[in-house]
Amino acid sequence: MDKKNIVAGNWKMNKTPLEGKRFIREVKSIIKDIHCTEIIFFPAFTGLFDTQLNNPFHLGAQNCHWETSGAFTGEISIEMLNECEVEYILVGHSERRQLFNETDAVINKKIRSIQSSKLKPILCVGETIDDRKSGLTKDFLKGQLVKNLEGIDSIENFIIAYEPIWAIGTGETANKEQIYNAHSYIKSILKKLYPNKNNCPILYGGSVNTKNAKDLIQISGVDGFLIGGASLDKDSFTSIVRDVENFRR
Ligand code: PEP
Repeated sequence: MDKKNIVAGNWKMNKTPLEGKRFIREVKSIIKDIHCTEIIFFPAFTGLFDTQLNNPFHLGAQNCHWETSGAFTGEISIEMLNECEVEYILVGHSERRQLFNETDAVINKKIRSIQSSKLKPILCVGETIDDRKSGLTKDFLKGQLVKNLEGIDSIENFIIAYEPIWAIGTGETANKEQIYNAHSYIKSILKKLYPNKNNCPILYGGSVNTKNAKDLIQISGVDGFLIGGASLDKDSFTSIVRDVENFRR
């Protein structure tokens, strides 16, 4: 079978450890026959421990520090995540960039550290509404990709998420043309940066919900979704997973 589509649920600062475990149990009991889709849950750190998952379910962390250990109060190392059987780490989410002042240089350090581990980064990129209105979307995306991937010699095992900031948590989804153009452009930049191996999945994120998932997954170049709000509810999350799975059948 060729590449699976991906549905990733970023819970952000929601769900206690017990609520998260119950949620995963419920999702597993609702969707059983999944063969073409990889499902990744991103609980808060406290929900990562003792959450063993099997295909098609996978575990991701919302953040990490780039150092291996030390005096970094409040931070978490990749080794700690690895011991929790985490496979993926979100890097460069716009909330980390905007609310926690994560610069492109910091994101680059995280990606370098993740790359030297066996975990896999999901790098989020996306423009602000001002950039889009000024016609600077492409420049902005290129700038993020070039700076975030500086010194990274291979993007095998990487996932990119295109998340226009103005569409995150706003209920305003990017339209098909905007998504198609952004994904194609990201692909073209990756091809230039990595002429040999550049076909990492590109997810769309930004107000994906049960009403638009079926349409959005059909856009050429969209390999799945990174979902915030709609990933918190078992009915909406499983409905989106089914739409993605059915599209491939
Ligand atoms: C996100 O936080 O990555 C996201 C896409 O959120 P939402 O689906 O709520 O827009």
